[in-house]
Amino acid sequence: MIYLDNAATTAVLPEVVAAMSESLATTFGNPSSLHTIGRKASQVLRESRETVAKALNVMPREIVFTSGASEANNTAIIGYALANRSKGNHILTTAIEHPSVLNAVKYLHERHGFDVTFVKPLANGNFPAELISQNLREDTILVSMMAANNETGQLLPVAEVGEMLQAHKAVFHVDATQIMGKIPAHPKEIGADFLSASAHKFHGPKGVGFLYHDALKFDSLIHGGEQEEKRRAGTENLHSLVGMAKALEISLENMDDNFHHVENLKKTLLTELGEQTSLSVSEQAHNGFAISKNTALDFYQNEFGKSMPHVVNLAFPGQNHDLLLTKLDMAGIAISTGSACTAGTVEPSHVLEAVYGTAAPQLKENIRVSFSELNTFDEVVKFAETLKNILMN
Ligand code: PMP
Repeated sequence: MIYLDNAATTAVLPEVVAAMSESLATTFGNPSSLHTIGRKASQVLRESRETVAKALNVMPREIVFTSGASEANNTAIIGYALANRSKGNHILTTAIEHPSVLNAVKYLHERHGFDVTFVKPLANGNFPAELISQNLREDTILVSMMAANNETGQLLPVAEVGEMLQAHKAVFHVDATQIMGKIPAHPKEIGADFLSASAHKFHGPKGVGFLYHDALKFDSLIHGGEQEEKRRAGTENLHSLVGMAKALEISLENMDDNFHHVENLKKTLLTELGEQTSLSVSEQAHNGFAISKNTALDFYQNEFGKSMPHVVNLAFPGQNHDLLLTKLDMAGIAISTGSACTAGTVEPSHVLEAVYGTAAPQLKENIRVSFSELNTFDEVVKFAETLKNILMN
């Protein structure tokens, strides 16, 4: 099977499996226990936190481990809003966020009476930072924005928004799930007060992630023991945290090579499809693929309308994407039609809908192909050929 659905999840690296197995076998203790076995577990927990903090260029105490990005997003948004109600009643986010942001914000509106604004991209798909400044209000207490979109790979101008918010009381939450381990994600460079990520997007295990926070007051979502400095109760998922730290460490060591490999996979795919099909391959307008910048800051500062190299979102006029997905699956190729969270349902993509409107044909025609460094050029060429054959027949 050729796996091209890495924005949904990635394969766990063998080194990560080995580190997790070793942790399961040797550090089964409860990190809160005071005996030697517990202290050993506590030491491993501390090391995992240090590794994650180092990757983000922050202090270990600024990292809260969670069950993934969904919980991290909910904690930042709901936890901050409820604890800071007196500061204002407005929350600002974009219409193209992951459901774990959209639905957390909707919950605050429906159950707690917050005013909320979901800002749409421009008609061409671009999302300039001004869209946020134009919608910022005196009583805005929180802005939540993703660093890169999971369906299109589109990079959003988070560093600009972060800088702009320095002059405003609103705190800034960045969902960095689709960039973590792929390009540098330093909250202090971005100007983020909160930053979320999930291990399984960078070849770690599922069900584990983290939230960076800069010591702001926020309510816990999970009440109980005093783990995570009272910010998230429950005995720690230690072997998964070990796996996450290992996966992040490996990603960072290989970041440049991986980035360029994946970028070349994307270029290869688009070239192959362009050359091999007489059909016009219409890349989504907002999903430009010309990325050759050196640092994350270049991305953050200059790359409106540009996308992460690991995601390609394509629409094939007249083709039903569910049928395409099934035919590709039968041919041994795994892709998706949107995010994994909505792919199991018949809902059209809210991301494309925000750009093209509810009646646009692209909503039934688009597919998402997403790479990781484990993919090869041969796989990409085979996929392009298979897709071409399906489209021609
Ligand atoms: N945010 C983004 C941008 C994502 O892509 C995902 C995963 N699809 C999440 C949040 C949620 O991650 P998890 O399901 O691991 O909690």
